[in-house]
This record gives sequence, C-alpha cells and structure tokens, in this order.
Amino acid sequence: MKKLTSPYKWGMIIDLDRCTGCGACVVACQAENNVAICEKKEISEGRNMHWLRIERFWVGDYPDVRVRFLPVLCQHCHDAPCEPVCPVYASYHNPDGLNGQVYNRCVGTRYCGNNCPYAVRVFNFYDHTWPKPLDNQLSPDVTVRPRGVMEKCTFCVQRIRRAKEDARGAGRMIADGEVQPACAQTCPSEAIVFGNMADPQSRVARLSRSPRGFRLLEHLGTHPSIVYLKGGGREHV
Ligand code: SF4
Repeated sequence: MKKLTSPYKWGMIIDLDRCTGCGACVVACQAENNVAICEKKEISEGRNMHWLRIERFWVGDYPDVRVRFLPVLCQHCHDAPCEPVCPVYASYHNPDGLNGQVYNRCVGTRYCGNNCPYAVRVFNFYDHTWPKPLDNQLSPDVTVRPRGVMEKCTFCVQRIRRAKEDARGAGRMIADGEVQPACAQTCPSEAIVFGNMADPQSRVARLSRSPRGFRLLEHLGTHPSIVYLKGGGREHV
C-alpha cells in the first residue's frame, strides 16, 4: 500500500441499516458539485451524470420481502485501479489519501472509467447547460466540467480545502466532524459519517472497527476508504 504523508486520511462510513433510500444525498451532491442535469435522451443512452447512486436490492420472498439500499460513490481506493491506467496522470492520489481528478489534464481516454470496478466515474459526452434559474445555483468553488472530461466524487474536496485553511490559520488540526461532504451533511438519518481515519479516536475510525463493517469488493485489493456497516445493531459513537 502507498504511504501517506499527511496527518489526514479521509474516510467515510455508510450505515446500511440507517439508509432509507430517500435520495437526499444524491440531490445534495449534484447541487454542491455542479453535476450536470441530463435530459431524457442522454439518460436513455446510458449517459446520465451522477457522482452518487443508490442501488436497490430485494431480500426475501413474497410476502416477506424487504428492500435494501446501497449508496455507491467513488471509494477513494488506497490502491486505485483508475490511477495507473491514465496516460496523462489526470487521475492521481493526494497526500490525504483522496483519489483526485485533474480536469484540465484529462484528455478523455476513459481508461480510468473502464478500470474502476465500482462504475462510479462518469464522462461528459456533451457540453451541459443549466436551465434558468438553476444556473444561479452553480457553486463558484467547483469547476464546471466541459465535454470530453471524466469526473467523479471528490469527497467535496473544496470543503476539505476550506477547513484546512481555517485550521492552518488558527494553528490547529481540523476537528472531528468539522468538515462534512454534502451527502453526509444532508442525510436525514445520519447514515453517512465522514472524517479522519488517521485519528484513531475520530468517529469514522471508531465506527470502522465495528464487527458490522465491510468494504465493497474488498477481495480485489483496492483498499477502499469507505466502510459499509450492515447486519443490525447500532454503535453509539
Ligand atoms: S472507486 Fe473507482 S474511481 Fe474511485 S478510486 Fe477506486 S477505482 Fe478509482
């Protein structure tokens, strides 16, 4: 595994027992990150744009059927298969363990998307526009991606950057819970928790040690930064 050179290692916990599949995280992510709004034609071509999707599973047999939800976003893998295949180093690893994407370096080969086992990268097949008045909602902190560029979840890196600047100005570390990506901030059932895995006392680090924890496709050796919790019970941390 790569060695990190920062006191931060950002990670996320998603408690599947808390997720109700409401989709608030999906909408919040779209609004925060200037994710394009797609028309029917684009969606029917399989070219929808979203950085976070909710997968739905049915468990049991009729009449005893239950529905389960699985929010899937970039797993910010520690050994990310999307990084070594990019010929122009647009997909890279930052010192905090984030899998980043340099938009103005991306030449649109889409090798990264093909190599991602979680299918969380989306490609701008078109130049997108925002109908009025939604164009007023675009965030000035986030680049609007042009046609031909690959994109995906950044763990709301613009919020992390701002929190880092604030903390550096005050001569301290970012406090536990001080920075939240839009999805975690918006989730009404608090199914998503974000924080610094490098701090063993942080809420994410404590939750990641739960016996309910698992990582998506962990047998592939990608070492994701997201830990899912399943199987009943609640940790009060
Ligand atoms: S989930 Fe996919 S896009 Fe994200 S770091 Fe892993 S391989 Fe790369």
